[in-house]
Amino acid sequence: MSDRTNRQLSPATKLAQALRYLEEETGAIVPPIQPSATYARDADYEVRKSYMYRRDSNQTTEQAEAIIADLEGAADSLLFASGMSACTAVIEQLPAHAHVVVPEVMYHGVLDQFQTFAAKDRLEVSYYPAGDLDAMQAVMKPGKTALVWAESPNNPNWDVTDIAAAAEIAHTAGARLFTDCTGTPPVATRALELGADISFHSATKYLNGHSDVTAGVLSVREAADWWDEIAHVRKMQGTVLHSFDAFLLIRGMRTLMLRYERQTENALRVAQHLEGHPGVEAVMYPGLPSHPGHEIAKRQTGGAYGGMLSILVKGDEQNAIDVTRFCEVFYPATSLGGVESLIEHRKTVSGEGFPVHPCLLRLSIGIEDAGDLIADLDQALQRAG
Ligand SMILES: *Cc1c(COP(=O)(O)O)cnc(C)c1O
Repeated sequence: MSDRTNRQLSPATKLAQALRYLEEETGAIVPPIQPSATYARDADYEVRKSYMYRRDSNQTTEQAEAIIADLEGAADSLLFASGMSACTAVIEQLPAHAHVVVPEVMYHGVLDQFQTFAAKDRLEVSYYPAGDLDAMQAVMKPGKTALVWAESPNNPNWDVTDIAAAAEIAHTAGARLFTDCTGTPPVATRALELGADISFHSATKYLNGHSDVTAGVLSVREAADWWDEIAHVRKMQGTVLHSFDAFLLIRGMRTLMLRYERQTENALRVAQHLEGHPGVEAVMYPGLPSHPGHEIAKRQTGGAYGGMLSILVKGDEQNAIDVTRFCEVFYPATSLGGVESLIEHRKTVSGEGFPVHPCLLRLSIGIEDAGDLIADLDQALQRAG
């Protein structure tokens, strides 16, 4: 398919057809898995098609990267063996003592990395309350800040960040904006178009969607030296996504649009049901008009708010844990974005020291029947109450 035709197709079509992959030789419409760890050179002792060793990359992973780069409108995308290894490569690329600005509350693994790097005096880290752009602005050091980190919607409270406004703050100070929009994949939020310099997604979550792969992807708006350095970190650490996992990811992405639409629909029904429920103190879901970030989320996702929400259970911490124990349809498991619904007591999972309400339960809504999910929560809340 020519580039021109490809551009005119909607994301739903391009995803379903995996960018219309077609192997000329065989006519296969699904990309093969290339497992080779090494590649033989040609008669002139040159590498063929740039492949030399598995740690560099492989065709299957590059095929998955092309699908994501197209979705993101990116100059380039790089897939890693996990979301955390992708985030760590961005952090590793920074020069010693670089100043970075990060949310106080965010995905706990990334926060842990920043705290660890700061404790070893490798980075200077300033914090801002997630989504609060005045506070972000206040800790910027123009000319010194190298990177601003934003997660939107933000784990586990689902605060929303205005990405275009954050980009302006970062760029005015001469910094790059990094966005983690794992909760709203690029069929909903196109962070690079909103002004982010690097867009990240844990592909373990919505992009793959079947809880059988860990993967992370970075996409860049414009190629730059620092992007090549991030690619170099991946190569040196050997954290490129394996071809078997890339194959599963491509297979998963073919149904991303359908899954995500259904998850958004289900989550909205669950959130509406739980708002005002006698066993529930608060519902955090950007799709609810009562959510403080609702208007920004509506603009940034086109109303595709996704399947992630949190609730504060009435009572104490034990009541909240009991709800997860009494659920019969929701799995009591961490992670998110899969076709099956999950519920977790976030404080238990993120560990002591992480700022999270003790009664907070994080729900990842799947593609099941919404009525079954609501009935399951109702009976669990009643038994726990
Ligand atoms: C899961 C997640 C990550 C980390 O990704 P892994 O694939 O689990 O390593 C980072 N950010 C957010 C928002 C996540 O949900």
